[in-house]
Amino acid sequence: MAHQLPPLGYEYNALEPFIDEQTMRIHHTKHHQTYVDKLNAALEKHPELKNKSVQELLKDINNIPEDIRTAVRNHGGGHHNHSMFWKLLKKDTKPSAQLLDAINETFGSFERFKEEFTTAAMNRFGSGWAWLVIKDGKLAIVSTANQDSPISDGQKPILCLDIWEHAYYLKHQSNRANYIREWWNVVNWEEVEKNFTSQPE
Ligand code: MN
Repeated sequence: MAHQLPPLGYEYNALEPFIDEQTMRIHHTKHHQTYVDKLNAALEKHPELKNKSVQELLKDINNIPEDIRTAVRNHGGGHHNHSMFWKLLKKDTKPSAQLLDAINETFGSFERFKEEFTTAAMNRFGSGWAWLVIKDGKLAIVSTANQDSPISDGQKPILCLDIWEHAYYLKHQSNRANYIREWWNVVNWEEVEKNFTSQPE
């Protein structure tokens, strides 16, 4: 079974006015679809890997055959990161008390957490992602370049933000700060909670 574009699970305009319909539609149907297609094309060369989940491929990235390793890292990463990102977008949710306790314990306060995450997203040079992960049993903020996934570094991602220009350029042009500020309104804290409390894969 080849890898497939997962459905968004909501309408393209569901996140308006914070993330616009056109960006969501193009991001999902063009950008994400292309990662899926190129991952499948790379795996054609190594049919023995076809039944592995994208998580399994990324976790074990250093053991992927060298001729397709970069393609799996980029396009498998793109597929996995976006699949996670869509689920982490929803209006009008709030972090649970349990999650807030963990955030306060690690970052001092929820506001400090937001500031540190925003700084990580702003400071990522070029294209990449900002993440809240569980690393060595504790919450941590990291950023990755390109489509690299924290799961390739043994971390468990629980929240992610796409900071490629394709994620915001139609609406915000070069203003990454405005995109990030609006994105905070559509973080799906129910999904963050689910990722936080689920067992490691
Ligand atoms: Mn993207």
